[in-house]
Amino acid sequence: MLDAYTRLSTNHNFEIMSRKIFLMPLFAVTILILPLFNIGAASPLSGKVIAIDAGHGNVETGAVGYCGGIPVVEADVNLAVRGLLKEKIDAAEGLGYEVAQLSSRNDRVADAESAGADVLISIHHNGSSNTSADYSQSFVTQKNDKVFAGYIHPSIVNALWLPDKGIKSDGYGMTVYGSLPGILTESYFVTDTDGACDFIDYQNGVINTRVQKEAQAMYDGLVAYFSRSTDGGGRPNR
Ligand SMILES: [Zn+2]
Repeated sequence: MLDAYTRLSTNHNFEIMSRKIFLMPLFAVTILILPLFNIGAASPLSGKVIAIDAGHGNVETGAVGYCGGIPVVEADVNLAVRGLLKEKIDAAEGLGYEVAQLSSRNDRVADAESAGADVLISIHHNGSSNTSADYSQSFVTQKNDKVFAGYIHPSIVNALWLPDKGIKSDGYGMTVYGSLPGILTESYFVTDTDGACDFIDYQNGVINTRVQKEAQAMYDGLVAYFSRSTDGGGRPNR
C-alpha cells in the first residue's frame, strides 16, 4: 500500500511520462521536416538588397538583332534576364530591387541607392553590324566595382562559353555614378544570329537558353560575393 506522498509522486511521474510520450513523435517529425525547409542555414543573400537595372526600356530599344527576319530587341532581353534573376534572389531571402527605367543613368543609380541597395547589376546586351560578332564583356569604374565584378563576370563566362573580353575599366554607364559596388554586363550580342535566335527560343518556352544561363550565373556570382571572407581582402572563403 502506498502512502499519500508516494501516490502523489507516482501520479506525477506518470504525468511526465505521458507528456514525454506525447511529445516524442512531435519531436521526431520536426527533426525530419527541418531539412525540407532548410531552417538554420541562412542564405548568403538573406537581407541583401540587390538593385537590378534592365538597360534601356520605354522608348529606348538598345541594340536590335534579327533571327530569320524577326527582330530581337535588347531592352526585352535585359528585362527577361532581370525577371529571372529577381525570382532567384527573392527565393533566397534577398530582395531583388527593380531599378526604375529612367532616362538618366545618374537618376537610375540614385533610385538604386534610395532603395538601400548593397550592390547594383546593370544588365545590357551588346550590338554590332557584324551579325556573327559575339563575346562576353563587363564594365566597371570604381575599386569596389572591380571586387564585385570579379565574382559576377567569370560566372557569366563559365555559363555561356563565349569568348571572354574581360572586365573593362573605362567609366562606362551606371557604374560611374554613386558609390555602390556595381557592374554593367554585356553578356552576349543580340545582333549575333545565334544570340537572337536563342532569345526567340526562350520566348517559345525553351528552358535552357542564354537567358536562363545568364540569370543563374549572375545569381551564383552574387552568392559567391556575399559568401566571401571580407577579412582577407575579399578572397572567397570556400
Ligand atoms: Zn545596352
